[in-house]
Amino acid sequence: MEVRDLSALLSDDPDLGPGFVHREEIAARSACYGSLGRDLPLRIRQYLDSGGIQLYSHQCDAIEAFRSGESIVLTTPTASGKTLAFALPVFERILDDPESTFLFIYPTKALTHDQLRTLQSLDGNLHAGSFTAVYDGDTETGRRSHIRRTARIILTNPHELHHILSWHHQWSRFFSGLEGVIIDEAHRYRGVFGSHVALLVRRLTRIARHYGSDPLFFLSTATLANPGQFASRLCGKSCREITQDGSPHGSRIFLFYNPYRSWPNTRSVHQDTATLTAQCVSRGLQTLCFTGSRKIAELVALRAGEIVSGGGRTGGPRISAYRAGFLPEERRQIESDLRTGMLRGVVSTNALEVGIDAGSLDGVILSGFPGTMMAAWQQAGRAGRSGRESLALLVAYSNPLDQYFMHHPESFFQSSHEHAIIDLENPYILSGQVLCAGAELPLDCKRDLEFFGPALPGIVAAHARESLLGKTRRGWIYSGSRRAQDLVGLDGGSRETFRILSGGRVLETMDRSQAFREAHPGAILLHQGEQYRIDSFSLETRTIQATPVEVDYYTRPLNSVRITIKTCRNQRPLPGGCLCFGDVEVTEQYTSYKLLKAETIIGIEPLDLPPLQFSTTALWITVPPDVTREISLQDGDLAGGLHGMEHVMIAVMPFHVLCDRWDLGGLSTPCAGDSGDPTVFIYDGYEGGIGLAEKGYEICETLMDTARTLVSECRCENGCPSCILSPKCGSDNQPLDKAATLNLISLVSGGVSGKNE
Ligand SMILES: [Zn+2]
Ligand SMILES: [Zn+2]
Repeated sequence: MEVRDLSALLSDDPDLGPGFVHREEIAARSACYGSLGRDLPLRIRQYLDSGGIQLYSHQCDAIEAFRSGESIVLTTPTASGKTLAFALPVFERILDDPESTFLFIYPTKALTHDQLRTLQSLDGNLHAGSFTAVYDGDTETGRRSHIRRTARIILTNPHELHHILSWHHQWSRFFSGLEGVIIDEAHRYRGVFGSHVALLVRRLTRIARHYGSDPLFFLSTATLANPGQFASRLCGKSCREITQDGSPHGSRIFLFYNPYRSWPNTRSVHQDTATLTAQCVSRGLQTLCFTGSRKIAELVALRAGEIVSGGGRTGGPRISAYRAGFLPEERRQIESDLRTGMLRGVVSTNALEVGIDAGSLDGVILSGFPGTMMAAWQQAGRAGRSGRESLALLVAYSNPLDQYFMHHPESFFQSSHEHAIIDLENPYILSGQVLCAGAELPLDCKRDLEFFGPALPGIVAAHARESLLGKTRRGWIYSGSRRAQDLVGLDGGSRETFRILSGGRVLETMDRSQAFREAHPGAILLHQGEQYRIDSFSLETRTIQATPVEVDYYTRPLNSVRITIKTCRNQRPLPGGCLCFGDVEVTEQYTSYKLLKAETIIGIEPLDLPPLQFSTTALWITVPPDVTREISLQDGDLAGGLHGMEHVMIAVMPFHVLCDRWDLGGLSTPCAGDSGDPTVFIYDGYEGGIGLAEKGYEICETLMDTARTLVSECRCENGCPSCILSPKCGSDNQPLDKAATLNLISLVSGGVSGKNE
């Protein structure tokens, strides 16, 4: 059946039909080709001609930028020919200058190996003799020195680069010739990890300069609100944005489906997802459905399979689940069955959004907004075989972001409004990175300001006091007893990194506050869609033991928060209040955790953890007496209003900034600071801050605007998970007052009061 007919059929369905709240048609676009000021070398031209490849406009832009010595950031979607856009200018130089070398950095090993095949085949076709190789933790010892001495294109990942840099004297040939660094999937480098990688890239540039080179940077990212600014912060060089995609695509119909169309809601979002998947598959659309966890993926695959086979288990088109825990052979089998068409439907966890390698499909279903617009478009982009119509379907959950999109679909289809944030000033991250730099080349507090910023002299002095840096004639050098690179992990904010182990394997690492929050004893941790129960938690060794489990409940910790303001770095007036940004000391005390099953509490267990104290950055809004008077005149509960405002402002942060609501903490209090006025705090959940609160300060008016719209449009009476209730509230969502929340936000932001809407 044609996509168009199916979309009409679904909308007319008596049961599902009323849930379709939006239909967007994205028109097909034909290719836009480009031209070059100067021809490519003959061998590249012959290769392109023999494959009938004509260059798209963005590929030509990338080649021209590189030729003129500009760093760039490319934001065109997957399958738009990004690899060629980077590879052609690289091979042009490789053919032209026998000394030139290039470094490609990928976020994962899997991606590195995919790209290795592509680059090697290009190298073979061009007879370029670049000797393209991967250098990472899996590279055999015997091959390493050969690669260092001869490879002209090396592919690696940030963790490996972190260690390579301290051995730079073995890499002098490679670094002397280094003309370009290609950073693919750059949007993954944000938050704590991204801040580390940004400083790691500065260490790389510093070493390249030492060997007389000064590489250009080529970045690619998914769509962001600030690609140029983000790229420049990541690589330390100004980057030109190339955003015009010249590649063609077929037309796409995008439908929004809201199971939560009445309050209280009686429908099951998973049941609806299964029905929709089955509808698509049984009408002949090969469909990929993304869900939040493995359990849900399996449930949806099973239900959808039952529906298409009419209740029986055999016959009918095949639908399978696909998840991280599968063996490589199992995953490859599913991928190949998808390609051959044997398999008509796959239900996958979000964790695998870029993992599945099966080309394009006819239909994609997003069961729940995956948290970022970026991920949503990446998932939706899997639909669309060339020249054919495709279908994408977003099924909303009850949370604020999902519901906001159901009410404001236009904001989903506008250009991205998500800012990716990197913090170059987090003192903990900076301090570790400076130590590594000191182990690589002597530090000069003046010359190296360019790489590490104005805090450098203070950090060097602090390390000198601890005898970690020693003064020599050539500058400050690392003088600790262990390898500096081993002291600094790229994933940790502070030096206190907790490792989560399962069966001897490290699942992930967390800083102290995240570990207390998400991996306390008894917690159910979701990792790549799989459930783990935390069995033991050692503060001494900072190791946490987890066991894979299959349970039908989840956990949430309860805590109390105290905040002391240390310095206010910035402030400005709001129409009905005052907004500040600065440094705070946060004390979180985790007292117990709840066990929940479908939002119903099935148990509460005590926790025995010491208070967690950390310095971070926060924004805070103080509310003056005339506004509080106004709230009480309208019979509002001030504490419930402040608390609601705290929750909803945190809930809408991910709408504007690439982060998760779990990355932020909040506190609302009837009196704080010098004035003793009622105050709402929103703080970075990571030691030293990772720039989220600072960005929140910058865009506070926009945040309040979104928050006000969200609350005023929610159909509930007294607050619900789609507006002011928070899944991470430490005080169990008490007290909350929806009307007071709306009034308070309206008064503080000077917007229209929502009470009559
Ligand atoms: Zn509500
Ligand atoms: Zn709360």
